[in-house]
Amino acid sequence: MKTLAADEEASLCEGLDTGRRLGVHPNEWLHVRARRGTKVPMPCTAGKSALRRLAVVCGLLYSFHSLLHAAGADLILHGGKVVTVDGRFSIHEAIAVERGRIAQVGRSADVLQRRDSRSEVVDLHGRLVLPGLIDSHAHPVGACMTEFDHPIPTIERIQDVLDYIQARARALNEGEWIVVSQVFITRLQEQRYPTRAELDQAAPGHPVIFQTGPDAMLNSLALKLSGIDRDFKVTDGGGGFAEKDPKTDHLTGLLRNCARYVKIKSPAPQAPREEKLRRLARLFADYNSVGITGVCDRNADREEIECYKELRRRSELTVRVSVSQHIGSLGPLAEILASIRQVSQDPLYKERDDWLRIIGIKTFLDGGMLTGSAYLRQPWGVSEIYGISDPDYRGVLFIPKERLVPMVRSAVESGLQFTAHAVGDGAVHALLEAYAEVDKDLPVRTTRPCISHSNFMSREAVEQAARLGVMVDIQPAWLYLDAHTLVKQFGYDRLRYFQPLRSLFETGAVAGGGSDHMQKIGSLRSVNPYNPFLGLATAITRKAKQYPHRLHPEEALTRQQAICFYTINNARLLSRDDQVGSLEPGKLADLIVLDTDLLTCPEDDIAATQVLRTYLGGRLVYQRQSSVTP
Ligand SMILES: [Zn+2]
Repeated sequence: MKTLAADEEASLCEGLDTGRRLGVHPNEWLHVRARRGTKVPMPCTAGKSALRRLAVVCGLLYSFHSLLHAAGADLILHGGKVVTVDGRFSIHEAIAVERGRIAQVGRSADVLQRRDSRSEVVDLHGRLVLPGLIDSHAHPVGACMTEFDHPIPTIERIQDVLDYIQARARALNEGEWIVVSQVFITRLQEQRYPTRAELDQAAPGHPVIFQTGPDAMLNSLALKLSGIDRDFKVTDGGGGFAEKDPKTDHLTGLLRNCARYVKIKSPAPQAPREEKLRRLARLFADYNSVGITGVCDRNADREEIECYKELRRRSELTVRVSVSQHIGSLGPLAEILASIRQVSQDPLYKERDDWLRIIGIKTFLDGGMLTGSAYLRQPWGVSEIYGISDPDYRGVLFIPKERLVPMVRSAVESGLQFTAHAVGDGAVHALLEAYAEVDKDLPVRTTRPCISHSNFMSREAVEQAARLGVMVDIQPAWLYLDAHTLVKQFGYDRLRYFQPLRSLFETGAVAGGGSDHMQKIGSLRSVNPYNPFLGLATAITRKAKQYPHRLHPEEALTRQQAICFYTINNARLLSRDDQVGSLEPGKLADLIVLDTDLLTCPEDDIAATQVLRTYLGGRLVYQRQSSVTP
């Protein structure tokens, strides 16, 4: 064998260096080049010097190859409209992907220079490409399991609720619990809770709970079995009470933030873990079909985190999952603070994996606007819709300040993102005050503190969020589905700072879009609907179902802003903006191809946008089966 010259040996280093420069581990580099067709001779048995010579030959071979193919892309999409969502919101014709990352964006002619015999090349025929969409608020594990033992019909009227209860009564043994959960009264035609009497009549032999968020309407048997009577009082230090009819002083059956006191004895059957994983993977595939490549589970418990870990271990995740781990707010404060600190020791937090990571913690600060318990600065007002009889009632705040501030401090000290469910302006202000309190001696901004939902804000709240670096995850589908009831309850003017997206963008606060998906698979049939194009359309138009006007159109986003809302802003919210959220060289190649040009199409076409392709790290995870190109 010919002796190798010194400069040829140097090529080996260069070959390895090429890999290093590109941030590829040498083993991975060999693998990558081999996958792309380079024959890498493998030594079987050889002496030390022979091995060394072989290694040098290998090095020579692949460094030569890499020189020849330095421009070789795995994937090129060209002839389209690639919306990068970079700092200038620049738009290009083409994009190239190498080893799962974006290698180049630019003119088609330039990007096509990277083509080689192995490149997959897709002509976009003018289609729009966006960064993969991110949903910053969902509950995927619970959502995918809602229908595992029986399908749940679409419920739009009180009669649908009662029909469903009767059907369950027929399917279950007498005395077994019937649970109707997350059917929101704001979305029922009658805009009210079913009454205790109606529930009694529908299933007299069964305890029935109609639960929405922390609130619930019970029938008489359910009240009795739970030991809830006129003398009922909350005893665990949390908020809540049982509503009474002011005329008769009898329980109406409505429990405010007391669903935890209901003693459901026959809980829903549990599915085996394998079934859960199968359904979760199916849900993620459905997320991909509407362009979602990243999601944040905004309240995961350990069991749910284990499900994500298992899919991650099997390489079956098709969305990047961020997790806000659930932290309760009841019980000894020292234990709560210890459990917060413990989250920061989890490898899923420390290792910052591209696929699955814990970003912080989530807790609950108030009730909901869909159920009548959001904590407001002004009274709700006596309400038939929400079953409110007390004119001074302002909703329920779950965590007092002396508990909230140390919880926030503990999260910030641990480097964790703190977020709390805060719907009413009273809760939003309370959380902002807690952030401001901690910020006096410990800057909160670096941990990207968050407010989840943040529906009712105020000018001061918007400005304070911007000043402190507090981010918000907001659900436009709630505006779409609930505005007609909210206007009826509060009047138009009181909703001036309801989801004030434009104000948030203009003051520089980071707002990201989410769904709060909690039930069912199917982007429009789910509760809440997770179709991000419905969210985009709502953020842009402020139009709502069963409502003839636009709800405070002065808070509408431009199309560019709305795209940021579901891409780079959510990436910031989830501390992933170094990796995803825009199409810039070096970032992970999470991108989607759409059938509709969101920047120029008629406004009414936005919600119906179809995804043609979804790529995750350059890998095709969804392609629409139709004749539509590409
Ligand atoms: Zn939620």
